[in-house]
Amino acid sequence: MRVFQIITWDIILPMMMSDFQIGDVVRLRKAHPCGGFEWQIFRLGADIGLECQTCHRRVMLSRRDLAHRMKALVMHAEEPPKG
Ligand SMILES: [Zn+2]
Repeated sequence: MRVFQIITWDIILPMMMSDFQIGDVVRLRKAHPCGGFEWQIFRLGADIGLECQTCHRRVMLSRRDLAHRMKALVMHAEEPPKG
């Protein structure tokens, strides 16, 4: 598992359109009612499926909604392929 430093929004936006993977964890600006900030991606499509890492409830967000709510990409599911 690879841990990213806090990344600026200018970098995240193009990344999230192409580089999200199932299992990636993101941190949203606003906490879930349960108090959790971190969400794991379980589905990628026209909408992004996110599971709260604290209470494990699942929600679907459009890519646009996610872009507005996202604070930082916290960690990546796996090493990217090299070469
Ligand atoms: Zn929650």
